[in-house]
Amino acid sequence: SYHLFFLTPAPSYYQSLYLSLGSNDTAAAHLHALTIRPHLAGTGANALAAAHVVSALSSHSFPTRLTGYSVLLSYPARRSLSLSAPDRDTVHFALKQETYAGDPYEAVSAEVVPTFLAYAASGSVAAEAVYANYGRAEDFAYLAARGVNVTGKVAVARYGKVFRGDIVRNAREAGASAAVLYTDAKDYAVGKAFPDGPWMPPTGVQVGSTFKGVGDPMTPMWASSEGCERLSIEEAMASDDMPGIPALPVSGKDGAAIIQLIGGDVAPEDWQGGDGAPVYRLGPGPAVLNLTYIGNETMANIQNVISVIEGKEEPERYVILGNHRDAWTFGGVDPNSGTAALLELAQRLSELQKKGWRPRRTIILCNWDAEEYGLVSLLTLITYDHKATHMSHTGSTEWVEENRAMLTSRTVAYLNVDSAVYGRGFYASATPQLDELLKEASKQVQNPDNETQSLYDLWMASDSSPLVGRLGGGGSDYSAFVQHIGIPSVDLSIGSDYAVYHSLYDDFIWMEKFGDPLFQRHVAAASMWGLVALRLSDEEILPFNYSNYAAELERIVTVAPGYQDGALRINERVLGMPVSLSPLHKSIKEFRRAVLEVDSELKALQTWKIWAPWRNSPLKVRDINDRLMMTERAFTEREGLSGRPWYKHLIYGPSLHNDYGAEVYPGVDDAIQTAMRTNTSKSWQSVQHEIHRVSRVINQAALVLSGGL
Ligand code: GLU
Ligand code: ZN
Ligand code: ZN
Repeated sequence: SYHLFFLTPAPSYYQSLYLSLGSNDTAAAHLHALTIRPHLAGTGANALAAAHVVSALSSHSFPTRLTGYSVLLSYPARRSLSLSAPDRDTVHFALKQETYAGDPYEAVSAEVVPTFLAYAASGSVAAEAVYANYGRAEDFAYLAARGVNVTGKVAVARYGKVFRGDIVRNAREAGASAAVLYTDAKDYAVGKAFPDGPWMPPTGVQVGSTFKGVGDPMTPMWASSEGCERLSIEEAMASDDMPGIPALPVSGKDGAAIIQLIGGDVAPEDWQGGDGAPVYRLGPGPAVLNLTYIGNETMANIQNVISVIEGKEEPERYVILGNHRDAWTFGGVDPNSGTAALLELAQRLSELQKKGWRPRRTIILCNWDAEEYGLVSLLTLITYDHKATHMSHTGSTEWVEENRAMLTSRTVAYLNVDSAVYGRGFYASATPQLDELLKEASKQVQNPDNETQSLYDLWMASDSSPLVGRLGGGGSDYSAFVQHIGIPSVDLSIGSDYAVYHSLYDDFIWMEKFGDPLFQRHVAAASMWGLVALRLSDEEILPFNYSNYAAELERIVTVAPGYQDGALRINERVLGMPVSLSPLHKSIKEFRRAVLEVDSELKALQTWKIWAPWRNSPLKVRDINDRLMMTERAFTEREGLSGRPWYKHLIYGPSLHNDYGAEVYPGVDDAIQTAMRTNTSKSWQSVQHEIHRVSRVINQAALVLSGGL
């Protein structure tokens, strides 16, 4: 398929070529090299992993560089936990994950960071244990309703429903003095344990961050550049986004030992363990936990790798691909399956380049550091300028504001892949104007587990409802792109059950035995990721479709049976209250009209392209593309969500009580929750205020999209 007039291959030619170039061996070799040692952010091993990424990318002659930052990270200095109960010998937990006979990583496993929860407060607590189920806000509310006193106690909660930082915060807000998080066999040991099966061994522990903020805790809201203004470590640790109490994660085995000694009333059915587990009770006591955690919060160096493939026609338009590199342990799945996919994708792009391809727009490949601590690398991108040869600027809020505006005016889309592969199944989340593109692209990629099917078929067979998910907060590196500066974004992964998450066992052997023995799933992930990138970078008209966006805005306001669990149906929740939804309905109507307008302009462009190409001036094309690109920006607002000013996007934000979750109209949702609790006329006025705010940004978006005054 060649363009009629210029005899240069059409974008679709290179897209097909790209899809044909996948290499399982390349992905496997990169994953193997990246995971030979544990490589936590701030360690020498992670600097070596960065060097691997740099050398792989520069070998393709893509200009590649490292950008370093000094940020506040957290490491464990001292930990101990013991369990006692009347008439029992005190148990001192070893707090150690065990390797297995023949583990090839036995020797380097000593380099794995001891099990801990990053940024937990330092201190010692000896108190009775209370069982708090999944540690959600509603679980603590239930305990309160049952008259179980949590004040001064150690809350014991299991992983699995919400971000661990929310569990610890909920415990603190309920009055607990410390928290212990454990992996319940019911959720993480459903089948044979690693290395005989993919499930979590009894001593496996999920570690992770408990910071609810985003970026470097010492530089909230601004970039962490050299010599910049910084909070002191004490000030940073005193932030409300920090857990504020000591906490430790423990294994399924240790968790079971604790639960077994908690007495009191029997916990409800859905708080119980799996088959063969003893009866779980609420407490408090008689089990007493004696917990000591001393953390080492220290400034450490982190490094992002940035590689640029400059666009030919529109070099100042960016399609950004990102994945993080830092891992709690070996990173077999999280995140280096994504890094391996990124490097395999880069290899294919270099092949395309040898065949004459140059992207129309600039493609930027990013490999982030310190995502695990709280997306620390994110704010640093805001300092990126593709024309600058080095970062010579000193940091200041004003300077960041300037560069943020630069990215805001130039970035077409951000495509994130964190853990690329952890089994069968396909998942995608995005801002809605990219839904159609994802569906179309997935139809062109082969299902890695069934040659006769496409990735789309696999996706349809998965349990995701709706098909395309939305983007939450602590989920991964897309957060700043979507929620801080309003860039259309995507997040992709191939997988299903993944029990060894953030444990010692997340290594190459796990991947080779269970996650992706043939590495064809890595290839499929890279195919999908790269195809979406190529369509965004090379097609003359941006493949954005806003009708889905309009439909979603509408759906969340009106009753939508069967829609996403827990999604807000505003009209039901404000029924009978002094709140009018008409501003919202009106603005959505405007938005729909803008969608129709831009659609008919796009149709005209397509028709003219064939019958009267001279009528499509590059300026006209650029104007439509700019409107398609900038509409998402209009959903952001300077002041951000009430009480959460870093989050500027008023349509999508993280759920207040689960940083992993995505909420539609988060500001309205927060206000409704408060109003339902307090039921004052002032609180209902705030609901109305939030509805007006959302309506205003939708009106703004409609104006950008239609381009009409
Ligand atoms: N950053 C998130 C966390 O702390 C999840 C994403 C990841 O594991 O990379 O759990
Ligand atoms: Zn990750
Ligand atoms: Zn992770």
